[in-house]
Amino acid sequence: MKKAAIALLFTLTLAFAGCGDKEESTNTTTDQTEQTGTETGDDVQGDLEGEGPLVDGVLNVGTNAEFPPFEFVGDDGEPDGFDMALIKAIGEKLGVDVVVENMEFDSLVASIGSKIDVAIAGMTITDERKNMVDFSDEYYEAVQYVIVPADSEIASAKDLEGKNIGVQLGTTGDFIVEDIKDATAAQYNKAVDAVNDLRNGRVDAVIIDKNPAQVFGEQFKDEVKLYDGESAEFGFEKEYYAIALPKGDEELAKSVNDALAELKADGTFDELVTQYIGN
Ligand code: GLN
Repeated sequence: MKKAAIALLFTLTLAFAGCGDKEESTNTTTDQTEQTGTETGDDVQGDLEGEGPLVDGVLNVGTNAEFPPFEFVGDDGEPDGFDMALIKAIGEKLGVDVVVENMEFDSLVASIGSKIDVAIAGMTITDERKNMVDFSDEYYEAVQYVIVPADSEIASAKDLEGKNIGVQLGTTGDFIVEDIKDATAAQYNKAVDAVNDLRNGRVDAVIIDKNPAQVFGEQFKDEVKLYDGESAEFGFEKEYYAIALPKGDEELAKSVNDALAELKADGTFDELVTQYIGN
């Protein structure tokens, strides 16, 4: 039932995808410049200059709701998906209100500690990101998949050389393309736009994480085929998703990790996997 709903939602999203090609920001926060005069100690709700989410009682969470089944815009216009359910369950354990902000994937890491407290967005732990943020314990294993048109001759990493490859800007798929000889990365803020350009013939392949690739693969079964990037033909490495946290906030990291461990131990985590991911 849930899966059918997700599939329907993406049909609708895709139907509209061609209508407005402009990059619009879905950022819903108000201008924060008015909130800087807090020297007197007044506390603005969810104020990031405050004592931190555990004291303020508000956890400001950044995501990029373009990555099904981990995050997508639900029927009510709000971010939904596995990650959203997980962070809300964590928020409940911590006794804080979770406020989600939908932003571009590429700006999540840099916004931690200013606009948002933490980010959950199917985000892979990488050494580069670790220079800027800390990560929670990992919660999901992933790998990049390759989506190509059904009649494409691409069948290996070697075949990707010199090709035009659609990726989400600033993602691990994007970083993989950097290392493919003579390949060009066509960078999109929304995965669905990359997939639509594959269907239109504007890119030769799309490199994106396994589960979103499977959602799109299912959606367009007659038009595309998928390759598991972990296969010998491609040789991509396993990746691990975690919640990105402010650097050095050990108290928050411990609280989040403890909550995650409890949700795994009490079966909630597995229920969410079944509900949203299904495998
Ligand atoms: N896992 C990939 C990354 O961390 C893609 C995440 C995403 O697009 N939401 O770069």
